[in-house]
Amino acid sequence: MRVFFIGFGQAGGKIVDMFIEQDKKAPTRSFRGIAVNTARTDLMGLDNIELKDRILIGQTVVKGHGVGTDNVTGAKITADEIDSIINTIDNRGTHDIDAFVICAGLGGGTGSGGTPVLARHLKRIYREPVYAVGILPAPEEGRLYSYNAARSLSTLVNEADNTFIFDNSAWKNEGESVRGAYQRLNDEIVRRFGVLFRAGEVSKSGVGEMVVDSSEIINTLRGGGVSSIGYAISETVSKSTKQKQGLTGGLFRGLKKREASEEVLTGEDKSAKIIGLVRRAMLGRLTMPCDYTTAERALVLIAGPSGEMDRKGVEKSKSWVEENIAGVEVRGGDYPTESSKVAAVVVLATIGDAPRIRELMEIAKETKEDVVKSKERRSSMFDGDEIDPLFE
Ligand code: GDP
Repeated sequence: MRVFFIGFGQAGGKIVDMFIEQDKKAPTRSFRGIAVNTARTDLMGLDNIELKDRILIGQTVVKGHGVGTDNVTGAKITADEIDSIINTIDNRGTHDIDAFVICAGLGGGTGSGGTPVLARHLKRIYREPVYAVGILPAPEEGRLYSYNAARSLSTLVNEADNTFIFDNSAWKNEGESVRGAYQRLNDEIVRRFGVLFRAGEVSKSGVGEMVVDSSEIINTLRGGGVSSIGYAISETVSKSTKQKQGLTGGLFRGLKKREASEEVLTGEDKSAKIIGLVRRAMLGRLTMPCDYTTAERALVLIAGPSGEMDRKGVEKSKSWVEENIAGVEVRGGDYPTESSKVAAVVVLATIGDAPRIRELMEIAKETKEDVVKSKERRSSMFDGDEIDPLFE
């Protein structure tokens, strides 16, 4: 799939920068990307997005210092300067792309406010679908972040064609700070979405057993709402790869006997290996923890060495996924990569029930009520007729 990425705000910019880095290492180029921000230093910190593709907005309002977690200002600045953002996108070229993907942290100011505004304009101007990758804040970041994310997300789901969620709180380790986890979390994001967004592209490694086209990804996401992604990777390299690397003799045979025998077994049954991976992907940690049985549609993708691709394995995996989700539309396929490992991605599209989102909306509601109460308290402090104001 040829994707035009827009990184909005600090988190979004960093993640798109990593997608571009990943693309530079791939045998064929599928991604292009720009970054938009109100903070100059965030834009300067990027490595892979070209300088001309880094757009500083709101200069007259915030003078390059960012909007400081104020997403209403983020949305306003984006609306005021939408023409310059669209011009940069146009100049970068859109004629050959399959989709736009806006990436942003939804709890902050610039990306949180700007993403829904940009999604609306992209949809009005272009025919290609507009997706978002929205990062949810961890509760420990404070209620303002949750409030911002709830407002941004509830607007975004009505503007974007589909919104993928990545939940920072589900992915950071016990005792680890969110900030300290960013690099690791971003690696996880780019790895998963990289497998998904690269599907359907012609590769030097040949074609898959069951080719998946961009239109299948687009049809899977057509239901809108929010989606979550599962991912698993095979731990062992294939037998042939081990032989190539000379790993099957001496030391390997002695020390890794169990692993080697497992490998021979799984090598004989490629279908079982693929089904096992797909199960692990769907039942393991999702980008947004949720009840997968409420997904309306799904997409199963297998990427790895061409010798490990297996049509029967994909077919059986699709049936298994179909038995487990609410809807009946399950698409799938595979594509070869130069990696020695097999990766499985399961897109659980249009989730019907996600406790994390309900929790976020609840926090936002309480926060709003508290803000109203505190405003009333403050104004009542100066109520009363006993003291005359200095002037009317
Ligand atoms: P903005 O620049 O105003 O759009 O706001 P930020 O992108 O800095 O932050 C908004 C949210 O994104 C917060 O919840 C942060 O925890 C989160 N965030 C910031 N940087 C990263 C990052 O590199 N990776 C991840 N996963 N989350 C981030």
